[in-house]
Amino acid sequence: MSNKFVGAHVSASGGVFNAVANAAAIGAKAFALFTKNQRQWSGKELDGETIDKFKNALQASGILPKHILPHDSYLINLGHPESDAREKSMDAFLDEVQRCSLLGLEKLNFHPGSHLKKISEDECLAKISEAMNVTLEKTKGVSLVIENTAGQGSNLGWRFEHLAQIIDKVEDKSRVGVCIDTCHMFSAGYDIRTREAYDKSWSEFDKIIGFKYLMGMHINDSKAKFGSHVDRHHSLGKGEIGLDMFRFIMNDERMNDIPLILETIDETIWKDEIALLYSFEFLQNSI
Ligand SMILES: [Zn+2]
Ligand SMILES: [Zn+2]
Repeated sequence: MSNKFVGAHVSASGGVFNAVANAAAIGAKAFALFTKNQRQWSGKELDGETIDKFKNALQASGILPKHILPHDSYLINLGHPESDAREKSMDAFLDEVQRCSLLGLEKLNFHPGSHLKKISEDECLAKISEAMNVTLEKTKGVSLVIENTAGQGSNLGWRFEHLAQIIDKVEDKSRVGVCIDTCHMFSAGYDIRTREAYDKSWSEFDKIIGFKYLMGMHINDSKAKFGSHVDRHHSLGKGEIGLDMFRFIMNDERMNDIPLILETIDETIWKDEIALLYSFEFLQNSI
């Protein structure tokens, strides 16, 4: 019996309920989705019929809310140095959390934020924590899941210390977690290509953040070189990380029971990639 919940970031085009069917069609046991257009500030309100259709589809699929990792809009920057822009982000973020809540979902994955070279890293990280505190106070039931980044431009969250610093200032730690993207981790300078490197990088993660905060993962290979801080995903085994790391993950019980989400570039092979990942399981002694 597998304890791994692998899926992909599937399309919700035509209605959030379509994401469930799209996940089932590729053999996914988990999935990610945008609950609204990710490139717009506001989305159509979720009506009762849409919510019911989503919940019914989910029940029929057997996929549990804890294995679903909705992603927020790319426009949101909770660490924005300017107050008007930050407020706009906070309003949109609150709406995202409320949408998850309406759909009966438990987690919202987001990119921490960018200082845009106008404020210090510390100030930006503090703004992110504060925005999370405000949001947590106004909502219930949904955990805020901070994603590590590749560190492109002025994006924070590429060092484990950034994520730890954000969590440290969040008051309700029962509703905060992290999502580790393997492509971002690698591009940020955490090597995971060999057994030794993998063990070393994850023990660093455990020491600085702690596995109890790991609420999801993005499973991607990387087109960009190690430590390049460039965010370019690739299909499994086709990029700079190579296949071994995916074998390690599928045999690592610290990644049990959380959504493991593909964001690889060729969605026509997601079904095969999911099957490939499951074929890696239970190989512990042969790798
Ligand atoms: Zn990601
Ligand atoms: Zn990425």
